[in-house]
Amino acid sequence: MARQPIRIAVLNFVHETVTFLPNDTTRGDFIYEGSPAKGEALLGWDSRNYMGGFVKVAREHDGVELVGIESPLWPKTGTGSGWITEDAYEHFLGRQIAELEAGGRWDGVYLALHGAMGVRGVPKPEADIARRVRAVVGHGAFIVGTFDPHGNEDEEFLAAADMAFTVKYFPHYDAHLQGERAARMLIRAIRGDYKPATTTVKVPILAPSVAQWTGASPWMDLVQRALAWEAREPDLYVNVFFSFGYADVPDVGMTIQAMSNGKPELAHKAADDMAAWVWRRRKELLSTIKVHLIPEGVKLAKQAIAKGATPVVLADHSDRSGSATWLLQEVIKQDLEGVLFATIADRKAVMAVKDKGLKAGDPFDMEIGGLADESAGQPVRVKGTVEGVRHAFGLHWVAVAFGKGNVVLLSEYLTQVMDPYGLKGFDVAQFKAFAIKSRVHFRRGFDDSGFAKTILLVEPVEPFLGTVRLDALPYKNVDVRKFYPFGDVSFP
Ligand SMILES: [Zn+2]
Repeated sequence: MARQPIRIAVLNFVHETVTFLPNDTTRGDFIYEGSPAKGEALLGWDSRNYMGGFVKVAREHDGVELVGIESPLWPKTGTGSGWITEDAYEHFLGRQIAELEAGGRWDGVYLALHGAMGVRGVPKPEADIARRVRAVVGHGAFIVGTFDPHGNEDEEFLAAADMAFTVKYFPHYDAHLQGERAARMLIRAIRGDYKPATTTVKVPILAPSVAQWTGASPWMDLVQRALAWEAREPDLYVNVFFSFGYADVPDVGMTIQAMSNGKPELAHKAADDMAAWVWRRRKELLSTIKVHLIPEGVKLAKQAIAKGATPVVLADHSDRSGSATWLLQEVIKQDLEGVLFATIADRKAVMAVKDKGLKAGDPFDMEIGGLADESAGQPVRVKGTVEGVRHAFGLHWVAVAFGKGNVVLLSEYLTQVMDPYGLKGFDVAQFKAFAIKSRVHFRRGFDDSGFAKTILLVEPVEPFLGTVRLDALPYKNVDVRKFYPFGDVSFP
């Protein structure tokens, strides 16, 4: 017997908003070649991510029609911009809702989300998106969302939507897998084969992103515990939101979700077990990594180079604008050699090089970086030689050689280098150290691969906006004293 055809609307709206950055994320930041995307362009935009997994599995099912609703992709600022303006949010969401309304009857909706979106005037945007989509599609349709582990969510999302699947690892290795699950479970629910019974538990822990690396215990054990629940109970799914403390939003903090097939008590049991485990291990969860102040970190890097424990990674995890020069200043001060800085974000400098028509071999003498806000520090005058000017990923890049074997790569926006071999055009072997702007993503290519012999996480002496010292941030919507380790908190 032929099954009823199924129509699923696919929407994407993602950002990890550092609300403490001074530059708002505007409508224009979401508009560039390829974004917004709709139809096949949306469905095919990121085959390694949630979207790719979702589309792959949905299309393994007969009679499933996917409709790519016009959606903004990541803003071109990446994660280097602050509050999304209400104008931008309403513009894109408004068009999505209008297209859903005009699109006839829907059996299901897939929301490709992140969870740490911060919108001026909208306290919990992902829940708001789910509610507004529900108002159009009604209770006869199922809504599933996929999320980043850095999402800030509470019970409101699943009050409006039916299901959620969150990436478990950081680095985000399993995004594709969670997209696959979202498709399979959405189709099962639509066909009456799965009745989502969900529960959400918030745990009052606020951990800085850099601490959340799941390559080491106890974060690795936390992932393992969720996987063990999923392994031992058919049709049970467990999500852990590690949370994103650089967004000043009311639903910040760790969150556990569990979902069962029509067994609310099982979902409660799993979520309560996970939450209790997290709370028991809170001290260890907050002390997995060592962050050095930059002067000390650079000194340790110099010692490592002298001992031949190279390559060294100096990861300034805290730079949220991409323009921070603290590490550059200190490396110059302590006279290190053979360091690649990737990157310093300075759109003005990049454009100046382009406009002047500078080419490899030309002299370079400019102030670079800094001044995005106080966390970026002062610009640094670099005198050297242009090593290359490139156009890649739709953006311009400039490499400048200076000092003894040092190179600084200038980018237009904050850039997290995740893999040394992603640094196209560089002879990676010539460098003794890599000074990068990344918290955990770099572990893909620098650590999990076995590349780096020494890894040093650093941040500036002052607790600027990307600091692990979250209680130094100027929150307005969050009382950090209600979260471990910043206050005297009890749970449950
Ligand atoms: Zn993330």
